[in-house]
Amino acid sequence: MNERDIKFAQIGRVLREHHKFAVLSHVRPDGDALGSTLALALSLQELGKDVRAWNEEGMLQKYSFLPRADLLTPPAKVAEDFDVVIALDTAVQNRLGSSTAAIRQAKLWINIDHHPSNPRYGDLVYIDPTAPATGQILFELLTGQKLPITPAIAENIYAAISTDTGSFQYPNTTARTFEIAAELIRCGVDVGRTSQQLYENFPRRRIELLRELLGTMHFGCEGRLAWFALSQTGAQALGVIPEDNEGLIDHLRAVRGVIVAVFFEELRDGKVRVSMRSKNEAVDVCAICKQFGGGGHVLAAGARVPGTLAEVEEKIVEKACAAIERNT
Ligand code: 5GP
Ligand code: MN
Repeated sequence: MNERDIKFAQIGRVLREHHKFAVLSHVRPDGDALGSTLALALSLQELGKDVRAWNEEGMLQKYSFLPRADLLTPPAKVAEDFDVVIALDTAVQNRLGSSTAAIRQAKLWINIDHHPSNPRYGDLVYIDPTAPATGQILFELLTGQKLPITPAIAENIYAAISTDTGSFQYPNTTARTFEIAAELIRCGVDVGRTSQQLYENFPRRRIELLRELLGTMHFGCEGRLAWFALSQTGAQALGVIPEDNEGLIDHLRAVRGVIVAVFFEELRDGKVRVSMRSKNEAVDVCAICKQFGGGGHVLAAGARVPGTLAEVEEKIVEKACAAIERNT
């Protein structure tokens, strides 16, 4: 057995042998976090286990079409005891947010993720930085360990992989990713229907937000850097909710010549949420974000930086431009 299969066998044994589980994922969840959480929770339920599927924000409106979305809730107000807690897609433990406070005690923590910056917290750890989505790791785990994959589980995994690969576009999308997608379609996934739910069903508010953002669009570093920003005033005027902005940064990345795209979002707590994307492996946006206490992947990273919008913009734009000039 290779190292991966040994680890999967250990995790598989733990999943079969214990009874009460919590499946958690990161704050500001994306499709990979929510789809993966539901997929694993449903598979455990199929095994007859007692499962909580928790995310600080509960289920997002836009992912509420996912099969058995009702299973995923905000964490319990009164802490509970568990046999096993599984953190999915969560690069640092504190990004589990308030879910952590709802775990009074657990015999074992499992950490399954694809972020290279994951410091390997937990008792049983499987990190594959080459996997384009945590959903892809889960597929390998469930099939490898002969754990249940129902059509509902398949659709959740498909949504996790589709969203984290930018619809099978990012460079970490491999032949294996397409093989897994094919398997998931054979398990019952309706690609057209799921894609429409994922990409053609946004509230009008989201396109109004895009209009607002484009009004603040800037290019720098000789067209290799692009950014836009959302102030609290702008967010409040439009009634923006956090889930609205997932993916909007892709409009900047899609511009010819742009290597790094940045989205600045003023938060209520005096910090600015910085979201960065790179189109070139030589320009590592995770390294830039780490300088500001954040993390992520080489091509997609983020941080929460104290300061006003203007202050944070200036600092980040300078660092990003320096990184572009040094590495390209
Ligand atoms: P996004 O820009 O979509 O919010 O995040 C892109 C990637 O960066 C994700 O993989 C996410 O886990 C990571 N990321 C975003 N914000 C933070 C942050 O504040 N801290 C850390 N460590 N990672 C972040
Ligand atoms: Mn992910």
